[in-house]
Amino acid sequence: MADAGRLSAAMEAAIQGAATRLVPGLLAANTATYLRTVQTIATTCGRPVPHAVTDAAELATLADRAAASARSIAHTQADRMRALVTEHGSRAAASGPFRAWDREQRALIAQAEAATAASAAHAAFLAHNAVTGTEHVEPVTAIGSECQAAIALGEVPLGTLPDFPLHLRCPHYVVTTLVIPDGPLWLGGEVR
Ligand SMILES: [Zn+2]
Repeated sequence: MADAGRLSAAMEAAIQGAATRLVPGLLAANTATYLRTVQTIATTCGRPVPHAVTDAAELATLADRAAASARSIAHTQADRMRALVTEHGSRAAASGPFRAWDREQRALIAQAEAATAASAAHAAFLAHNAVTGTEHVEPVTAIGSECQAAIALGEVPLGTLPDFPLHLRCPHYVVTTLVIPDGPLWLGGEVR
């Protein structure tokens, strides 16, 4: 991450502009992932699927997260471009390597953003409904110690495990076995 204090005002404005342009795409993708996740939960629970995420607090959180991710992405892109210009001698010479790096980076970011949105939808479903059950982490192999520790817990009561992904390229997710109560369920705002 760049030392923001050393960036010129023009550079800061350019980064802020880039971040602002990234927000709508991130927000749309993450909201769609969130909705698909509650739709899958609804089907699993034998309820009609919701057609939209309508919970104001959840929508605000999705918007906040998209804005924060956009700022982080724009700063990382600017850092990378500066490093490549230094390495290759000019902005023109750096543009090819930058595009190649950016393509790979976008795929990683899309995966991490989707995993975070799905995890948030699961967490909100559990927070809003009187659901009980158990959970565990899959897949069961890991390199990072945080992930290994969570896997080592095995099958635990719902709400014990941290929110995955725990880091970039984290392949782990939480698998839940739910006991669904009778009566209406909160599904992203709509109650079914
Ligand atoms: Zn992991």
